[in-house]
Amino acid sequence: MGIKVLKFGGTSVANSYAMQKAFDIVASNNKDKTIVVLSACSGITDKLISLSETCLQKNSNEYEKILNEIEKHHLKLVFELFWDPDKATTYMKSINFILQSLRQLIEGVRILDELTAKVKAEILSYGEILSTNVFYHYLLFRGFLCFLLDAREIIETDNFHTNAKPNLLKIEQNREKILKIFQNYDLIVTQGFIGSWKKETTLLGRGGSDFSASLFAYSVDADEVQIWTDVDGIMSADPRLIPSAKPIKTITMDEVAELSFFGAKVLHPETVKPAVIKNIPVKVLNTFNTDSLGTTIVSSNSLRNHAPTINSMILLENCYFLKKSLDLNSKNIAYYISLLNDNFDKLLKISFNQNYLYAIAKGEKYTSIDESLTTEDFFVDRVDVLAFFGNNLSKTDSRTIGKLMKIITKHGDKLFNHFYFIVSEKSILLLAEQGEGKLLLQECHSTLFEQ
Ligand code: ADP
Ligand code: ASP
Ligand code: MG
Repeated sequence: MGIKVLKFGGTSVANSYAMQKAFDIVASNNKDKTIVVLSACSGITDKLISLSETCLQKNSNEYEKILNEIEKHHLKLVFELFWDPDKATTYMKSINFILQSLRQLIEGVRILDELTAKVKAEILSYGEILSTNVFYHYLLFRGFLCFLLDAREIIETDNFHTNAKPNLLKIEQNREKILKIFQNYDLIVTQGFIGSWKKETTLLGRGGSDFSASLFAYSVDADEVQIWTDVDGIMSADPRLIPSAKPIKTITMDEVAELSFFGAKVLHPETVKPAVIKNIPVKVLNTFNTDSLGTTIVSSNSLRNHAPTINSMILLENCYFLKKSLDLNSKNIAYYISLLNDNFDKLLKISFNQNYLYAIAKGEKYTSIDESLTTEDFFVDRVDVLAFFGNNLSKTDSRTIGKLMKIITKHGDKLFNHFYFIVSEKSILLLAEQGEGKLLLQECHSTLFEQ
């Protein structure tokens, strides 16, 4: 008997309809030992963040309003899932107990008038604590023997409470705890997103439940990780922007990491790493369309000799384009890179030759860009960036180049400063005038993937 890890994201446990779909998937997966990792119900982590931000405000009852919304959401969920009123009362008690302890935690913060990172992590963990409790009780209600495991027992991390790094050694050692549970149970339900440092709650960063899933898989040497979400897999573009986007059948780990680095909110950027180390296959599947085959993430070596292909693209609006001429008086490149890192949230690309340094960056770190950039004579402009991803891109074939050239000829006026492409092995960046990106995204998608 193998071990599978099934992770359900926020939308897959958002409401009673979604939870029943997730239940059907778990119930049909009865050949393996299974670890079910759940996110908080969609939107709840955002509410908990607002709660932590407003609970110290003196003359406002905003925090009370948010607490009520969180309560209402989960009680409605229980009410809809447990149609037997007697049992509903029992489960309602358990959920109410958790909601009460969240209230007490917030009261404590208000009395002490202080919110430390440790307490913030504690508050944010309630989303996953609540969703797993509801789902666990629903499994029991439907006659499934299962074990509710506190993820903090397994996912040990460092002490950066709200953005912690996992301790792979400890996580691997904790496999014994999981295997012991599997002696008596075939099914474990546990939380994504949360971990612990010396018994204190820590968090793996936003979207961290994907990461949790692969960490659990890493711990027990699982046979497969399934990431269940609300789209048919990793798509050729964000389906919210391009409804005709198509699922990619097979994608390499490197490509997923690159997509996440550039900000495609489909998988947590670290997700693939523990899987890479142990060569565990990861599939991305649709909770609401189980007929779809989804996307299989394979090791990067397996597609090394394949023909170059573009598989997907994303749009990054309102980025910065930076250019600086280099001469004998220039400082060293490391100095400029650190200057750029100080000014922007993320450096998407940096390249230089003898004469110029170019950079593309996203999000200013502070309200305005530091004067030091002007003093250093940086040329700064705003652009929309279209990023294309695939395999062996630096060897991109003439057909794909032909298609990209077609876009350039047709839309030259919307492109930025005739500075068209930045090509590397893993991505091709096309720079557009600020505000023109959306239209170009549609054009490029239809030229590349729909013809
Ligand atoms: P979950 O709640 O299941 O973790 P997320 O919202 O974190 O789901 O990620 C899934 C969403 O990612 C999709 O609904 C989709 O809008 C967005 N997305 C962005 N880019 C892509 C892409 N290339 N392929 C698939 N989904 C994408
Ligand atoms: N609930 C967390 C978040 O919203 C983690 C996750 O959903 O993956 O970021
Ligand atoms: Mg997610």
